[in-house]
Amino acid sequence: MKGTVNGQELLRLEGIEKSFAHTQVLRGIHLSVNSGEFITLLGPSGCGKTTTLRIIAGLEKADAGRVFLAGEDMSDLAPNKRDVHMVFQNFALFPHMNVASNIGYSLKLKGLSRGEIKGRVAEALEMVRLSGFEERLPGSLSGGERQRVAVARALINRPKVLLLDEPLGALDLQLRRQMQQELKRLQKQLGITFIHITHDQEEALSMSDRIAVMHEGRLEQIGSAAEVYNHPKTSYVAHFVGNANILHGTVEAPEIAGNAGTLVFGHPAGHVRIQNLGAPMAPGQRLTVAIRTEHITLEIPAQKALYDREGLDATVTGKSFAGGQLRISAALTGGEEIVVSRYGVDTPLDIGDRVRVSWANTAQAVIVDREEPV
Ligand code: ATP
Repeated sequence: MKGTVNGQELLRLEGIEKSFAHTQVLRGIHLSVNSGEFITLLGPSGCGKTTTLRIIAGLEKADAGRVFLAGEDMSDLAPNKRDVHMVFQNFALFPHMNVASNIGYSLKLKGLSRGEIKGRVAEALEMVRLSGFEERLPGSLSGGERQRVAVARALINRPKVLLLDEPLGALDLQLRRQMQQELKRLQKQLGITFIHITHDQEEALSMSDRIAVMHEGRLEQIGSAAEVYNHPKTSYVAHFVGNANILHGTVEAPEIAGNAGTLVFGHPAGHVRIQNLGAPMAPGQRLTVAIRTEHITLEIPAQKALYDREGLDATVTGKSFAGGQLRISAALTGGEEIVVSRYGVDTPLDIGDRVRVSWANTAQAVIVDREEPV
């Protein structure tokens, strides 16, 4: 069967399934990647990211489903017949070969002349800003330099798609941030499609054109950083990307007069107005909402207001300071825990204070799950 190229589509995964022994690791992966796109598979350890990449590279065979590149079904092609190249987390450089030999190795196997290989190696080293490093052995390079050599070795084949398996995982935080910018620059400059995997949400948000959030062998949501962050489709995505608070409650009032698309969310701790962009809901219907830690306001209410104002009642349970951010945790009446983040070093709130939880804008609480009407 031949796949069709939809506009800019370069790579397509259709219904990929994979089990190891009796454990199903991929449960029907559907993904369409555009030409020149930087896409990141984001998910926790063990969710199937590497297995997906290895199936695209041909290093692993899917039990079901097909892989198309530029409309051609390449599911049964050997890895070296696919126009893709993989960069591994541990770089996998040959320790006894110098940088030039490592980078030019695949061209040598293809039988290119020494002169041509030399020219292509110099070009690849220039791309990753390592001109002059030809004679060095991998053992004499820093982690960041080894990473650049691994990328140069992948780029020398001029693949249509570069697969990057946690390429920055072995680097310290500062170098990691620097290499993120470097990889992004390279990708834009060369126009090559990058499929990158990471479990670091910050890395995914800062580098990618689109993010595919993976959970237990499925893609839960695919979208731009802003879409995934601001409009998570499931409570899993809301929590994994940006650590949103998840609250379970019921519809207290399905709409508010003169305020279309707004409902009253009822919770054991109180009630709050929230935006409903989906189908109208009925009183009593259960729903789950996500609210970002930075959108929540905590205030000590005046005694009277404690009972008649909109908001949720909670008790402060902890506060900590890390990375320029203050994090305050509070237990809502009824048991659920929330976390609030602020820039700053201290708060007048103390552990044990009774507080009113609210947020400024009804759109800041996103409905991520709703009970279907029976
Ligand atoms: P990580 O971020 O830790 O690399 P991942 O999301 O990339 O995780 P995979 O490496 O794809 O996850 O692994 C998914 C699951 O499949 C894991 O439970 C892993 O142990 C299992 N698995 C992967 N390869 C094999 C294999 N060759 N044989 C048996 N189980 C495997």
